Amino acid sequence: MGRYNRAVVLDQIQLADGISRVEIAQRTGLTPQSVSGIVRRLLDEGIVREDHANRVSSGGKPRTTLRINADAGSAVGLHFDPVELTCAVVDLLGRPLVVKRRPTPPGTDPSHVVSAMSELVAEVLAETDVPRSRVLGLGLATPGPIDQDLGMIVAPPQLANWTRVPLQRMLSDVTGLPVTLDNDATAAAVGERWSGAGRGVANFAYFFFGTGIGGGLILNHQVYRGGSLNAGEFGHSSVLPDGPECYCGNRGCLERLVNPSAIVAEVHRRLAGEHDGSVLSEPFERDPAWVDHASIRVAAGAGDPLAAEVIDRAAEHVASIAVSVANFVDVDLIVLGGHGIQHVETRYTDAVASALATRPLARHIRIIDVASSPLGADAAVVGSAALVLHATYSPQLSALLAD
Ligand SMILES: [Zn+2]
Repeated sequence: MGRYNRAVVLDQIQLADGISRVEIAQRTGLTPQSVSGIVRRLLDEGIVREDHANRVSSGGKPRTTLRINADAGSAVGLHFDPVELTCAVVDLLGRPLVVKRRPTPPGTDPSHVVSAMSELVAEVLAETDVPRSRVLGLGLATPGPIDQDLGMIVAPPQLANWTRVPLQRMLSDVTGLPVTLDNDATAAAVGERWSGAGRGVANFAYFFFGTGIGGGLILNHQVYRGGSLNAGEFGHSSVLPDGPECYCGNRGCLERLVNPSAIVAEVHRRLAGEHDGSVLSEPFERDPAWVDHASIRVAAGAGDPLAAEVIDRAAEHVASIAVSVANFVDVDLIVLGGHGIQHVETRYTDAVASALATRPLARHIRIIDVASSPLGADAAVVGSAALVLHATYSPQLSALLAD
């Protein structure tokens, strides 16, 4: 209970931009005495600092506000995408200090991937002046499905031959850091709650556009993980019951219809047939491979009719599933993020917003908000570092600072 209350208090301080002890007590229902005791320990440990310059006065005597001491520790985040590795060091406020990317080594040997990960972690740590003793741990965001108890990725669809890989242990062995593993969409949702569009929002759903379409749920301020820790697979909701078969066993899944290769295939099909002119036509004739997901998004973002039509159709499918999510869990906000919607964020948010205004059953009670992630392509990597802060904030940091 002590640790729980401590996390509740830290959470309030982290979410507010300056908050007094009295306000913490009012917002959490804890007694002023217990708030004051917890805050005293957090101050002693250096996790929290008092901001005397920004006292809030409410009639009586001025109250000192409390803030997170951002430099007291840091965490490393690593996003493992089958195409690209992204690594970041973040401070205690979830702000990235350094972000670096490199291509995921080709081939299917997990040990090559783990060595590349380890090199990248060493590079980002070398670029910051954070002493190793202040690094709380490493958060690893990977494509699902994962077995979190065993620290394994289980048969991820984009990685042939990766049946059960104990990535958590392998990475911990080579880096010497404690590793927290989660799926990329849940990590991104945690990052969004920490320092993005989901700050202070009690209930939101997150659609993550990476190599596939993942989902994360924050319900009553908590990450909702489900019984096997694989909740929020919005990408495998069926949009077209008679649609193409998906590798998951279902038909017409959202992910099957709007993943990057499906979008590229559809644009190529249209470019190969008769169409009314597109900035992509000429490059396609020269080299079809040039017309990839990124160039299609750039073209659609600039208003190219062919590319925009394909993206808008994908956005309509996303909107349908967003309506289902709204009906199922009645969230306050839907956030769209990840590198897969870069340059076309508003095409997706417009489609989802218009569906949420007209189709959920409870729309006459309130209209659910939509936002694109301010963390953009860094959502998963910031989120993976935030996983560490989330999980180990209290006990580990106290132990470190007590040394
Ligand atoms: Zn599926």
